[in-house]
Amino acid sequence: MYDLLIQNGSVVDGTGSKAYLADVAAVDEEIVAIGKLEGDATRIVDAKGMVVSPGFIDLHTHSDLSFLLDPTAQSKIRQGVTFELAGNCGGSYGAPLEGGALESFKKRVSEYPDNLDVNWKDFGGYLDTIQSAGTTLNLAVQVGHGTVRSCVLGMDSRAPDRDEMNRMKELISESIELGAMGFSTGLFYAPGSYARLEEVIELASIAADHGVIYSTHMRDEGTQNTGLMVAVSEAIEVGRRTGIKVEISHVKCKGPAVWGMAGNILDLVERSRREGIDVAGDQYPYTASSTGLTGGLFPRWSLVGGREATLARIADNGVRGRMLED
Ligand SMILES: [Zn+2]
Repeated sequence: MYDLLIQNGSVVDGTGSKAYLADVAAVDEEIVAIGKLEGDATRIVDAKGMVVSPGFIDLHTHSDLSFLLDPTAQSKIRQGVTFELAGNCGGSYGAPLEGGALESFKKRVSEYPDNLDVNWKDFGGYLDTIQSAGTTLNLAVQVGHGTVRSCVLGMDSRAPDRDEMNRMKELISESIELGAMGFSTGLFYAPGSYARLEEVIELASIAADHGVIYSTHMRDEGTQNTGLMVAVSEAIEVGRRTGIKVEISHVKCKGPAVWGMAGNILDLVERSRREGIDVAGDQYPYTASSTGLTGGLFPRWSLVGGREATLARIADNGVRGRMLED
C-alpha cells in the first residue's frame, strides 16, 4: 500500500537521461518505486500527458520579502520550483535590520497593504517569521553585503573605519550563525559599489570561516565601469584570497561591446579552477535581464546619502542635468 501513486507520467528524473513513461510511488513522503506499478494507494494522481520530475532549484532569487507577503508562492510552485536561494546581489532585505537597512525595509514594506509588523532585527527573527508564515517551498537565504553596509554606513560612499568594519563582520558572522547560508555582494549596485576589493575580501573571509558560499553580482557585466573581465577577475580574487566557494551570479555579456566574450569568461573560470579556486557561475534560462530603476539608470554618485538626498538632486536643475549626462 502506497501513500501516493503518480501514474502514467513522463518521468524526467534529473540524472540527464531521457524522459520515460512510468509510475512513481511514495510512502511517508519518500519515493519507494518507479516503473510500471500495480497496487493500492491512499491517493492516486493521473499524470497522463504531464511531466513528473524532482522539484527545480532556483539558485538566484530576490524573494526575500515575497514569502512574508504570500507564503503560498504560487508563481514558483506552479513552475515546479521547490527550493529557492534568496538574498542575492548584496541584498538581504529582511535581515539584518538596523540603521539605513531598517529604514529602507520599512519603506519597502509600507508599499504593500499587508501591514506587516517588522518586529525582528536579526536573521533568526526574520527566518522564524518566514517559517511561521507557512512557506510552501524550501528557502535558503544569504546575508547581503549591501544590506550589512547599509546597516552600518548607510549610503555613504567611503571606506569603513575600523569600528565600522568590525560591526559589519559581527553582523555577517551573527547572521550566518542564525541561519544565513551564504554571503552575497552586488558590487554593481549602491552601496556595494562604494566598497573596494579589500573590504569585500575582509568580509568574505568571515563567511569563508563559516564554510558558506560567496555569490556575487559582479561590479561590471559590460563596459559601465571596470569592464567585464576585470570584474570577473575581482570575483575570482575573492576566492583566491579567502578560500571561499565563489558563485558568479547570472553570468552574462551585457551590451554589444562585450558580446562574444563568453568564451573568455569560461577560460578564466576554468584556469582558476585548475589553480584550485572553487569558482562557478549560473545563468538565466532566458535572454533578457532585469534590474531596479536606480541600478539601471542612476549614476552611483547620485545615490550617495540615500533616497531623500537623491530626490533633492533630481529637484536641482543643474545636478539633474549632470545625472542625465552620466
Ligand atoms: Zn544581480
